[in-house]
Amino acid sequence: MKRKPGLWTSLEALPTAAAVLAEWRRELGSEFDAARVFLNPNGEQSSSHPCTNRFPCDCRHRVVMHAPDRLAAVCECDGGSCEPIELQPTDVLVWAVDVVKLGEAVRRALKFQSPVGSANGEQSTRIAARGAAKLPVFLHLPHDAAALAGESEQLVASVGGPFVLLTPTEAHHSKTVGAMQVRHGFLLLGLSRWLAVSGAGAFTLHEQIDAVLAAFDQRLASGPGLVKTVERIDRHMELVAKQKLDLSAAKARIEQMHGDGLFGFAAKIDREARDLFLAILASGDVAKASRDLDMKDSTLRTKVAAWRKRGKEYVALAEFVRWRKAIKGQAGVEFAKRLASGAEREVDFPSLIRDAVEELEMLDPENWEAQCSNLADALRAAVS
Ligand SMILES: [Zn+2]
Ligand SMILES: [Zn+2]
Repeated sequence: MKRKPGLWTSLEALPTAAAVLAEWRRELGSEFDAARVFLNPNGEQSSSHPCTNRFPCDCRHRVVMHAPDRLAAVCECDGGSCEPIELQPTDVLVWAVDVVKLGEAVRRALKFQSPVGSANGEQSTRIAARGAAKLPVFLHLPHDAAALAGESEQLVASVGGPFVLLTPTEAHHSKTVGAMQVRHGFLLLGLSRWLAVSGAGAFTLHEQIDAVLAAFDQRLASGPGLVKTVERIDRHMELVAKQKLDLSAAKARIEQMHGDGLFGFAAKIDREARDLFLAILASGDVAKASRDLDMKDSTLRTKVAAWRKRGKEYVALAEFVRWRKAIKGQAGVEFAKRLASGAEREVDFPSLIRDAVEELEMLDPENWEAQCSNLADALRAAVS
């Protein structure tokens, strides 16, 4: 694809944004004079030179020194028919883009603030700050889409919040980076769309950028922008921390009930009653349990009612069922699995009951403290 020469395209065309002047002249085209202020010799000398003959050959000519002030660039093509190019020592100096100077001119043109902080990206330079939040603005000169995606990823990780990333053109703005922008709340701008070279080291805004920036601000303030996301994460962490606290309090409460022997009644319950009890515990109430057990609702009710005449352990069991119904909701999958495992229920029924209570806590963490008290009271009354 033939590129139009100019400052913005040249910055992505030259892999290191450094080249001899002849190359810059070719890449910058009519903008050479205006853009030259952004170039500085980097102290290196090039060992090759582009072919500047009228009918250019296919190679980069090799620089040979005839005398300190007399150099030539000779053709390296097979056959080597191209004329050597006579050069001055200054012709082989490598000129690199002064990114800080370029960034400063861009910053002024976009009316952004001076940068806050000095940390750069791995491949990008911090050139400005923007808006009330003083979001960092970086300038990156990617030579391909992968380089831009890599730098974007690096910035997402290191900045840890919204930022603006400027590139010379949109040529390397891939779908990947587009999706990242939305997901991570940064704004990618190709400068060639917004800024035109207007004179030596100066730009003009050739289209109103305000709408794009306003849309970005809006995105951050409402939608899936990172600011909101971070707030959401903070809220979530708070919630998790609170739940953990509640959970550990509930755990302690249940342990205490276990320690007080309030679940001890369960050790004296016969096999059939245990099975019925566990089914009721898992499904929530007698009606649902009878369906799960494939038993008539009235049959199960009669059996449970009979517990109240079978001594205090069975009364406790009936109280537990009544309490379970008040909690509502289905027990967790894990609990159901445990119920299905006949082996475990043989081991230590009081402990299993304790686990069941803990499991049920997940159903109704709101007033769990009160629920536990109710259960403790009911059991204590039944077994005393
Ligand atoms: Zn040549
Ligand atoms: Zn050649």
